[in-house]
Amino acid sequence: MSDPHTHRVIPLQDLRPSALTLPDAALRDDLRISANGLLADQRGRPLRDLRISVTDRCNFRCNYCMPKEIFDKDYAYLPHSALLSFEEITRLTRQFIAHGVQKIRLTGGEPLLRKHLERLVEQLAALRTLDGKPLDLTLTTNGSLLTRKAQALKDAGLQRITVSLDALDNAVFRRMNDVDFPVADVLAGIEAARAAGLGPIKINMVVKRGTNEQQILPMARYFRGSGMVLRFIEYMDVGATNGWRMDEVLPSADVIRLLQSELPLVALEPTQPGETAQRWGYADAQGRRHDPSLGEIGVISSVTQAFCSDCNRARLSTEGQLYLCLFAEKGYDLRHLLRGEASDADLINAIGHIWQGRRDNYSQQRQLMGPDTGPAVKRVEMSYIGG
Ligand code: SAM
Ligand code: SF4
Ligand code: SF4
Repeated sequence: MSDPHTHRVIPLQDLRPSALTLPDAALRDDLRISANGLLADQRGRPLRDLRISVTDRCNFRCNYCMPKEIFDKDYAYLPHSALLSFEEITRLTRQFIAHGVQKIRLTGGEPLLRKHLERLVEQLAALRTLDGKPLDLTLTTNGSLLTRKAQALKDAGLQRITVSLDALDNAVFRRMNDVDFPVADVLAGIEAARAAGLGPIKINMVVKRGTNEQQILPMARYFRGSGMVLRFIEYMDVGATNGWRMDEVLPSADVIRLLQSELPLVALEPTQPGETAQRWGYADAQGRRHDPSLGEIGVISSVTQAFCSDCNRARLSTEGQLYLCLFAEKGYDLRHLLRGEASDADLINAIGHIWQGRRDNYSQQRQLMGPDTGPAVKRVEMSYIGG
């Protein structure tokens, strides 16, 4: 048993109902967790990947993410004072790195709406992993502001980028982003990113049955051989506002079958553990071997093929809550610690204890129990914790 006199308590005034209470051990000097990259959760999964949402706002209203009816002019977005500052994000990132994080993805909402984002990129690019390497630093964007921002992001130290694009057909795309944003402007953004040297570029396409499945082949034809990796994402039941239905999910197996009918593919090995996408390479003329000049695609099958067993991803919300799963209902309030008296060692300890307690495996459970009986009923919105 520990001595209660060494039990230094950091006041927890900000107990908003939406935040989980930190594990008791997280705030104790006598139960320090070593920050040596060996941290593992209850299922033996390390912490390697941190996704940071820098804004809960977006200039699109993709119906699968921020439907217009909910995210209207009366929607209460976070006030600026609630957002983590760039300095706070960088400080926290340092403590995550101490536990082994190697990859950072900036996301949102639309991350490029956050003013001077390149300043944050610059601060993060200066950090080093536990073995002294630069972070794998990337960003997911809807591409709408890339023509203006790509070069500044590259100059600040961003390495690569993922651009979301759900269709090449202008009418389909405008309907999906629901703000009448034209495809041509996203393609121009992608071109600006390529010209700035942000690469390899990944393109994310959320596939919704009955909405854009006719766009699968045109998208594949367009990006095949371009050096960019197109990734087909199963429409997920994230958040609580998109009215998700299983019959609107087109399983990745069907996407692969459709592609194979015209553009032969061969399965590729994963490049690293915990990878979300299954990789497929375009085959050579004989249809047997991968032709690297044609590139590859990925499928992200979080509905039909759970990949929780090696999920090493943590998510930091716009206001500094730590979420252990994309489908979590609540997060742990790290901002409160940051803005209190917590030292770096306290933060390292808190993150360590939170991760050690992690059991989340929502997709696996959903696969076992069926989508509507999953454990979380009031899941957090994706625009708040990022994809
Ligand atoms: N606004 C940026 C964008 O769209 O790229 C970054 C944030 S967005 C939440 C991150 C990724 O999540 C995007 O690729 C988006 O298409 C994907 N996404 C959002 N809602 C989704 C859903 N219900 N199912 C699958 N993917 C989704
Ligand atoms: Fe905005 Fe991205 Fe969500 Fe679309 S997917 S509404 S672009 S945050
Ligand atoms: Fe990771 Fe949760 Fe997704 Fe499973 S459902 S892969 S635990 S984020």
